[in-house]
Order: sequence, then C-alpha cells, then structure tokens
Amino acid sequence: MTNSMTETPSNFIQQIIREDQKQNKHNGKVHTRFPPEPNGYLHIGHAKSICLNFTTADVFGGLCNLRFDDTNPEKESVEYINSIKDSIRWLGFDWDDREFYASSYFGRLYELAEKLIQDGKAYVCGLTPEQAREYRGSLTEPGKNSPDRDRSVDESLDLFRRMKAGEFTDGEYSLRAKIDMASPNMNMRDPMLYRIRHQHHHQTGDEWCIYPMYDFTHCISDALEGITHSLCSLEFEDHRPLYDWVLDQVDLPAHPQQIEFARLNINYTVLSKRKLKQLVDETLVSGWDDPRLPTLEGMRRRGYTPVSIRNFCENIGVTRTNSMVDVAMLEYALREDLDRTSPRAMAVLRPLKIVIEDYPEDKEEVLTPSRHPKDESMGRREIPFRRELYIERNDFEEIPPPGFKRLIAGGEVRLRGAYVIKCEEVIKDAEGNISELRCTHDAATLGAKPEGRKVKGVIHWVPVQDAVEAEIRLYDRLFIEENPDAAEGDYRDFINPDSLEILQGCMLEPSLKQAQPEERFQFEREGYFVADREDYKTDAPVFNLTVGLRDAWGKAQQKPQKK
Ligand code: ATP
Ligand code: MG
Repeated sequence: MTNSMTETPSNFIQQIIREDQKQNKHNGKVHTRFPPEPNGYLHIGHAKSICLNFTTADVFGGLCNLRFDDTNPEKESVEYINSIKDSIRWLGFDWDDREFYASSYFGRLYELAEKLIQDGKAYVCGLTPEQAREYRGSLTEPGKNSPDRDRSVDESLDLFRRMKAGEFTDGEYSLRAKIDMASPNMNMRDPMLYRIRHQHHHQTGDEWCIYPMYDFTHCISDALEGITHSLCSLEFEDHRPLYDWVLDQVDLPAHPQQIEFARLNINYTVLSKRKLKQLVDETLVSGWDDPRLPTLEGMRRRGYTPVSIRNFCENIGVTRTNSMVDVAMLEYALREDLDRTSPRAMAVLRPLKIVIEDYPEDKEEVLTPSRHPKDESMGRREIPFRRELYIERNDFEEIPPPGFKRLIAGGEVRLRGAYVIKCEEVIKDAEGNISELRCTHDAATLGAKPEGRKVKGVIHWVPVQDAVEAEIRLYDRLFIEENPDAAEGDYRDFINPDSLEILQGCMLEPSLKQAQPEERFQFEREGYFVADREDYKTDAPVFNLTVGLRDAWGKAQQKPQKK
C-alpha cells in the first residue's frame, strides 16, 4: 500500500504517528504487533485490533508482528494458537517469519527482574494473595507498605532464585515492583511482577515454575522486538504509567509508546473470551466455530467473507470513545460484498410439489439464466424446466392475506425465468394438508410478458427430477437482548431460542451439485447461503444461512416472524 505521508491520516493513531515521524521519533520507523493471549479463539473484536495493527504498519511502510502473550499457561493451549494463526491468515494478513512468543523471552525477563532487585526497584514479598489485596488499599484509600518492602537486596535475590528453583508453593511468595503504595493509580502500588505457578507450559514445558505478569512482560516484549507503537484497548490506559516505569528501569535499546483505542462492542452478542468459552463448555452452542458466535471461526463457517470483515473494521473507524456498534452495520458490509461476489441459484427451502398438467411428461427445456445479474463473467447455469416442479410452500396461500402477490387457487404467478402458471386444483392428503398443486402453463409466456393480464408475482422453483436434496441450517442472532451483558440477569437467559432451525429435504437447482465447502450463493428471494465448511458433502449437502437479503431486525428491533 501507499505511504501516507502525503495523504490525510484516516484516524487519530495515524495522526499521532505522522507527528512522531516529523520529529523523527523512533527514527521514523513504524513497527506494530498483534498480541493475542492463546486462551480462546479470536472474535470480531480482535479483528478490529488485527486490522488496525497490520493496516497501520502497512500504511507507513512498516511491519507488524504476531506475538502470543502466553504468560498464563493454565488457560492456554496449542489448539488456541493454531486457531488464532488460521483466523489471522484467513482475514488476509501475513506476519511472515515474525511469529513470537512472550514465553521465549522468559530468560531475558528473569535477568531483568534480577536487575530490578539489585537496583532496589523490586522485592520478594511474602504476603498471601488475600493480605496483599488488603494492603493494596482502595480507590479512596492509599495502600500500606508490605512488611517485606525493605527486605535487603541479597535476601530478595536469594528468595527470587529459590522461587525459580521451585522451593516454594504457588502463592507463597511473589516478586513486586517497589513504586508507591500511596499512588492514586492502583496499578502503581507495588504491582506484582512474578508469581509462582507450578504449571506445565505449552511452549516452555516444565522449565519454569514462576511466570511473569502481563504488565512486566508486555512492555519488555515490545521493546525487545523493536515495536514503536504499542496499540491496545482503552482498559490499559491506567497501565500506561507502569508500562513506562518498567521500561525506564530496564536498559533496553527501545522505548515503545503505548496508544489506546476503544474496544469494539456489538449488540445482540457477547465479545468476551470468558463468556464465549462458557457458551462452548456448557454446549449452549456447538463449539468455538458455531456459526452463531462472533468468533472469526464461527463467522467464517457462517459464510462471512474476510473482505466484509475488513470493510466493517474500516467503516467503524478508530476512536477513543467506547460505544456499541449495531450488528446491522456488520451485516451491511457482508451483504455488500456478497451481492457482488455470490452467484445466484434457486433453492426451495420448504418444498411443495406442483404438476403442470398441460406440459408433456417427457419434455424438458433447458433454461440458462446468468449466474450473476451484473457480472457476465460468472457465466450461466442450466436448469431444466419440466412438468413436475417444487415451489416454496409459503408461495401458495389458500386464504391469501391482503396484498398477497404470489400463487392462490385459480390465480396466476410467474415462475422465475420461465412460464406464467395458473393453479387449477389443490390436492390434500387425508389430514387435510396440501400435498400437491395441479397447474397449467401459458406457453406464450416463456421469457415474454403475458399480454392483457396482470401477473405481479414471481416465485422461484426447482425441477423435481433434477433437484439436489440438502439440509439447510437457518441461523439467527444468538441473543434476543440488545445488550446481554448489561441486561438484568444472566446473559445466558437471553439466548434466542430460535437462533437455529434445521430444515431437511430442501430442494436445490441442479447447478448446486458442484458446490464446494465454503462456496457462497445467493438463493434467490431467500438470502445468502454458504456450503458448510465442516459438514458439507457432495452426497449430503449442508448449507448455512449467512444473512437474509434485507435487515429483518432493523425496523421493529425485535425478532422477525418466521415466514
Ligand atoms: P477478551 O476480553 O475477549 O478476553 P482480551 O483482551 O483478553 O479479550 P487478548 O488476546 O489479550 O484478548 O487480545 C489481543 C488484543 O486484541 C489486545 O491488544 C486487545 O486489546 C485486543 N482486543 C481484544 N478484544 C477487543 C475488542 N473487543 N475490540 C478491540 N480490540 C480488542
Ligand atoms: Mg488481554
């Protein structure tokens, strides 16, 4: 991409960087990083951070690292690492060979911690976690010094080495920075730098039983990698003084600069890894890649395109004000991309058989509609027109509601791209359910306007003989409450009971026989659908509803009536 020096900065972060460059701060270089903790799958909030970090580097001709912030081994796993890498690549970003792990700096971090002790800037504290909390004070009261605060350097050093050697149990001792127990910023009240955890680590195995804290690790990792601008979400604003304090104590060639931006929040969903994990663990969804989840793997399986997610992140912009983004904006970006890129097809979700009585049994006329109305390069598809067809059950009404424009007994409708037909007879089974319609067709209307008659409705259809039978999974928003986190009660109480409906025996036009997993289509009049990434098989096709053609929630802000 281009160097933005001559362009208007597109957000406040680019503006800051431009000022920095004018003063030759960081030698004019821009180097960012995306620092996920591998304790869950990435979600759409992370996508905002990924787009921001990679794009910012790109705009200024710099680099962006991928760094796993892996200092809590008990919650982390290689499964999460692999999924995170997959999702970033899928989004369209590349970190080349710059894949780093905070855990690979454990040796350096340990040396720097010893140096802090030697410089009298850190001490080993024997308060229990409960006592430490008490000593910390509150927002309105200053904290109290730990009785160990004035422990001698030699004694702290000895204890720290014995912590590392595994002589103590979890929580028995900790290493703390010596800053100011009366600081108005709680983060500066002698924060913990190291804790004891006898825990196997997915990268370092059993090499360590002490692990560094985020605030000590992150800034040093940034500096070791030569990061210039450390972009993070607003909740770290109060940690910035500590970020700078640590870097001021240690002697490293770089002092990166932390810049905070607002996290992404979206309505009708939850964006916290803890809650997402809970939904998965309690099998309230089918897994981390459940198409209803805002995880990138879930969205991918739902049929979201990487372009739509990147466009969305661009559209919402970057600010310093927390706000709630309407999920309709995300769906808008999705429809915009899918409209452009998805071939069209006809699919009957709830089939009703019709027989065109005046159409010969052995006749077929192969129609060749275009695959995309605005993109001829996608070519054409073949659909045989025959005597027996499926139409959508709700495209016929015996007692039509006012304004109903589709098929009624004795009425006419156009079959999309084919003939005008008339319903002559409604056949019912023993229980009184409609089992079949007997129709006639007007042979003069193939592709031509019927003269002298008003035929308003156009419905889609699929030939019985050539239909591809499929399972279709209709997904809807996972929560019925706009802000499930803030609503009274448990967020799980607001799960949309109709967020998944599985339809069997759906009938698709024959061109869909050649679909591939993850291939996306617009099923005309129904919405955008994707061949399921996991479950789609040529002999047992499964499609997911990605998004409807229009926003069904927008106007009423309530659950739409199922058709
Ligand atoms: P969660 O709160 O979901 O557990 P996290 O912040 O703990 O998320 P990390 O793996 O630490 O998850 O996040 C990696 C990066 O992504 C961090 O820099 C974090 O600020 C950013 N990030 C996480 N959630 C969001 C969000 N909703 N909007 C923007 N950035 C986010
Ligand atoms: Mg985090």
